[in-house]
Amino acid sequence: MTGEKYDVLKHFFGYSSFRGGQEELIDAQMEGRDVLGVMPTGGGKSLCYQIPAILMTGITLVVSPLISLMKDQVTALKAAGIPAAYINSSLSAGQINKVYQNLLEGRYKIVYIAPERLATEGFISVAQRLRISLLAVDEAHCISQWGQDFRPSYLRISEFVGKLRRRPVVSAFTATATERVRRDIERSLGLDRPLRIVTGFDRQNLRFEVIKPKKKDEALLALVSERAEKSGIIYCATRRDVESVCRMLRGAGLSATRYHAGLTEEERRNNQDDFIYDRCGIMVATNAFGMGIDKSNVSYVIHYSMPQSIESYYQEAGRAGRDGSDADCILLYSARDIRTAQFLIEHSGGSEKLTEDEQSKVTEQALKRLGEMVGYCETDRCLRGYILDYFGQKHPKTCGNCGNCDGSFSEKDITGEAGAVFECVRLVRERIGYSLGSAKIMKVLRGGRDRDILALGLDGLPVYGKLRGVSSDTLREILESLKTQGFLRVDPIHGALFLTDRAEDASRRHEKVTMRVRGKSAEPSSAAKRTQAGAETDEGLYAALRDLRYRAAKEEGIPAFMVFSNATLRDMAAKKPTTESEMLSVAGVGQNKMQRYGDRFVEEIKRYLSENED
Ligand code: ADP
Ligand code: ZN
Repeated sequence: MTGEKYDVLKHFFGYSSFRGGQEELIDAQMEGRDVLGVMPTGGGKSLCYQIPAILMTGITLVVSPLISLMKDQVTALKAAGIPAAYINSSLSAGQINKVYQNLLEGRYKIVYIAPERLATEGFISVAQRLRISLLAVDEAHCISQWGQDFRPSYLRISEFVGKLRRRPVVSAFTATATERVRRDIERSLGLDRPLRIVTGFDRQNLRFEVIKPKKKDEALLALVSERAEKSGIIYCATRRDVESVCRMLRGAGLSATRYHAGLTEEERRNNQDDFIYDRCGIMVATNAFGMGIDKSNVSYVIHYSMPQSIESYYQEAGRAGRDGSDADCILLYSARDIRTAQFLIEHSGGSEKLTEDEQSKVTEQALKRLGEMVGYCETDRCLRGYILDYFGQKHPKTCGNCGNCDGSFSEKDITGEAGAVFECVRLVRERIGYSLGSAKIMKVLRGGRDRDILALGLDGLPVYGKLRGVSSDTLREILESLKTQGFLRVDPIHGALFLTDRAEDASRRHEKVTMRVRGKSAEPSSAAKRTQAGAETDEGLYAALRDLRYRAAKEEGIPAFMVFSNATLRDMAAKKPTTESEMLSVAGVGQNKMQRYGDRFVEEIKRYLSENED
């Protein structure tokens, strides 16, 4: 059997070794045991049930909620020579009957099916006449109201199993994090002493970073320009943002395309193809993009706003670096994102109708997950560690490959500011009987003359204007740090600030309070810089050329990449051209650019070479 499994892996899928967890999960199912496989998206869950499906006699049903994915999977299986089909609402009644007929004639090994279908008389009567060896439940978290994407129809899977002549092996797969959801899956599906495998969630080639830019568009443009020759995805929270970001990037001369549910199917397909076939370097999209897409050379994923949960974030960011090479996952965060996400959660209709009670539980859970996501954006601890904690995996304290680990941080004493903040929160509550959010507390501390501050008489407090000398950006950072350090608690719905016991203790004992601040030298230590380093590039010269590019761009009032791309500068720093014809041999230097910038860059190279002669 061991040999067979490897033969199938090689023959049908072209791989020669298994990834973590796959082999154990396959073996268990082959031995007739139920399994629960928890793997990150992209971890290779499909093979875990496809290989047993091929090896077992009888047929395998795969329950999946994702219509578009089913089609892709079936196409891929057929292409590999495995007879497969799918049954969902995209087929006509006639087509469905044809599939039923083929099923009864034993023409398929694997059939993907939408959960609703399991409750229909037609399918049940067909299924009762089949020999079903395995029932694999994909995206199994859909069974739980505590999970993402709750689907009431998943709750009826075990009822369906009960109607079969013989109980098949039941296997469940998910990328979900919480223990509660995992328990729900086992219970609701009635898994029988399942083998539970939780595989590693860590993707070491991904570098994580959270940036809080003053202006997101500018920051994004700079990040994308730095990676001009690379392929990347930019995720936005709304269709409107997709449109405006895409327009902005195109306006800057970048090759961007877009994807969201508001476009026609044809346009979505065309745009997706442009991206996949590298006709377009940048995909700007909502979270509608990416399911079932396996483009391996995506070298960065930038989130223009914060997603709604760590699960979504990790799934989307995880589309970078699938080929194992270094890639960047950057999140552009502003406090405003929280409100957008809350709005989207409160106004989202799921794919199936929920009762009022179910809906309120689902919303409550979604807001909790959002809280964890905000924590990621605000933490000053290792970002990778934060994610792995969330998924319940042990990890070292620092990873050396995230924005919070490889930056050079220093401790700043903020005892005085923190004391003023604590006093302000306390006094405001005493004066007006309730708590205010960060924005108002900041106004009081900085002596703002807003009407509502004056109307509440807060200008009479002794802390009013006490931190007038602190800029609002700095004060905001201080407040965020006090939150993440556990001195302040935020009401997740109203945003009101409260003091924690820890803050009371610190005030009483006059403890020193500090905050980590990032040193300037740390920027930017991104994968873009690391992987572009060609073997012969002279790093000193490259830095000098970048400086010159920066000055030239500034003089003309254009972005730096419009002068020369990074790749061009790299090539230049390797070839070190000192004549016009040598300069023209650099990739990305055409006649036009030669005329405009050639001489200045040649001069700079000559200067550098003469200063650095051994
Ligand atoms: P998931 O369903 O967990 O999101 P997939 O099953 O779609 O992940 O697998 C992600 C990618 O990894 C696919 O391209 C798949 O072909 C590939 N893959 C899966 N198992 C292996 C393996 N053992 N070796 C190499 N590639 C694999
Ligand atoms: Zn780290």
